[in-house]
Amino acid sequence: MVSATLSEIGKVIKPGVTTSQLDKIAEEYIRDNGAVPTFKGFPNPCGGEAFPASICASVNDEVVHGIPNDSPLKEGDIVSVDCGILLNGYNGDSCYTFCVGEISEEVQHLLNITKEALYCGIETALVGKRIGDIGCVIQEHCEAHNFGVVREFVGHGIGQKMHEDPPVPNYGHRGNGPQIQNGLCIAIEPMITMGSPKIYMAKDRWTIKTCDGKPAAHFEHTIAVHQRKVDILSSFEEIEKIESKK
Ligand code: MG
Ligand code: MG
Repeated sequence: MVSATLSEIGKVIKPGVTTSQLDKIAEEYIRDNGAVPTFKGFPNPCGGEAFPASICASVNDEVVHGIPNDSPLKEGDIVSVDCGILLNGYNGDSCYTFCVGEISEEVQHLLNITKEALYCGIETALVGKRIGDIGCVIQEHCEAHNFGVVREFVGHGIGQKMHEDPPVPNYGHRGNGPQIQNGLCIAIEPMITMGSPKIYMAKDRWTIKTCDGKPAAHFEHTIAVHQRKVDILSSFEEIEKIESKK
């Protein structure tokens, strides 16, 4: 359901569209399918207003938790759309960074490496490995391309609650952290910057931006760990089909 919602958004993203319009499409799609958008009304951990929308839409130098607004997206922008849904008592959480029209080669490289890092992390999430092993491969892959790994926000366990233990950082050392057990469900979500990984919170007390104003990418899958394999419960397949036709 989360992936289907992100695919609906992928169909309409182009210059001139606003992130508020994307939010409306997402909320209608989620509710029409009998699910609940978990981000809407999510309490603000910093004491500000609850989150007002069904998706987070973070444009260019916004890393995560961008609030949808009425500014039209422009050719060359990137927008990370993060979506969380509750259906039949369980949560799904996934994020995809979309291109708006044609983007620069440099920014495309950031998107490619961030998505690759997510899959490196997923391949590492095997029974008997440790949570630090996941962060380590993500960090190594991104830093090898001179990109920054955001430290303040991390992936997480997921199930009947959207955020469960363990935290799943996108950095770390091999052999550190809790051991990965059969049946573990986690959301892995590298948040990667083109420049410095330093971030700050905007005045709205939600939007997280890069200090140097350079763009950031964010890709997230919800996965389930089984004895000898990992199931990726969310999917980018439909989105990638839509993107390849643009
Ligand atoms: Mg998410
Ligand atoms: Mg998440």
